[in-house]
Amino acid sequence: MNYKELYEQGKNTLADARIEEAALDARLLLEAVCGTDRNTLLVHADRPVSAEEEKAYLERIARRAERIPLQYITGVQDFMGLEFTVNESVLIPRQDTEILVEEVLGNLHDGMTVCDMCTGSGCILISLLQYSNDCEGTGADLSEKALAVARSNAGRLLRNPGAAQFVHSDLFESVDGRFDIVVSNPPYIATKEIETLMPEVRDHEPRMALDGTEDGLFFYRRIVNDCKRNLKKGGMLFFEIGYDQGEAVKTLMEQAGFLAVEVKKDYGGLDRVVFGTLGFEA
Ligand code: GLN
Repeated sequence: MNYKELYEQGKNTLADARIEEAALDARLLLEAVCGTDRNTLLVHADRPVSAEEEKAYLERIARRAERIPLQYITGVQDFMGLEFTVNESVLIPRQDTEILVEEVLGNLHDGMTVCDMCTGSGCILISLLQYSNDCEGTGADLSEKALAVARSNAGRLLRNPGAAQFVHSDLFESVDGRFDIVVSNPPYIATKEIETLMPEVRDHEPRMALDGTEDGLFFYRRIVNDCKRNLKKGGMLFFEIGYDQGEAVKTLMEQAGFLAVEVKKDYGGLDRVVFGTLGFEA
C-alpha cells in the first residue's frame, strides 16, 4: 500500500466508527506513525509504506475507532507552544486552559513563586515557569501517576527543571510554603453531567480529573479556604471554571476574603477564568 491508500483506509474506518474528525485524525496518526508531515504525505502520496508502518498505523486506527482520544494514542498534546507528554493518568491539556495561563502570566513577575493545585500533566505550572523569569513553583496532585507524567514533562521541557517541584498531596495537606500565586484547574464537572460527555472524555480521561462532585463546586469550596495557609496576603488565586460557574465561584472567593474578584471569558465568549487578591483581613 502507499500513503494515500493507507490513509483512505484509516479515514474510512474512523468515519464508519462515527469519529467526528475522521479525516484529520487519520492524517495525524499517519504522520505520527511515519514520522512525517502533511506536505510529505501530500507530495509523496504514492510512496509505498513498509509492512511495519502499515501494521502500526492500522493498530492505532483501531484504537481511535474505540474512541480512545487521539492524544492518548500519539502520547502528546501541544499546549502554550510546548509539546506535553500525556497518558490515561492525566487530563489532556485543553486550549481553553491557555486563557488561564495567559491571565496568570500577566500577574506573574520575576522571581515570584506559584502553586498549581491539581497539576495533572503539569501543563499549567510548566508553561508559567517557561514563560517567566526566575520564578519557582510547586505542582500538587493526589495522583502519583499524574505526578510521574508532570515530572517527566518538567524535566524535558523546562530550561531550569529544578524550578518546578511536584508533591503528592490531598489538596494543600502536604504543600509547604507561602506562594505569591495559587492557580488551579480543578475537576469541575457535576457528577450527573459526566454521563452526557463524549465517550472519549467520559470513558477514557481520568474520572478523578473531571468529577467536581454533585454540583461541580466541591474543589472550589475547599481551595478558596484551604489555600489561605499557602498564599501570601495580597497574593492572587486563579481558577479555571465551567461556563456556568462564574458567579458561584466569584461569590465563594468573596466570602473567603478575596478582593477585586473578576470573571474572564474565553475566546468562545463563555466565562472561563475567575481570579482575585487575598485581602489582608482574610
Ligand atoms: N491542571 C491540569 C490541566 O489543566 C489538570 C486538570 C485536572 O486534572 N482537572 O490540564
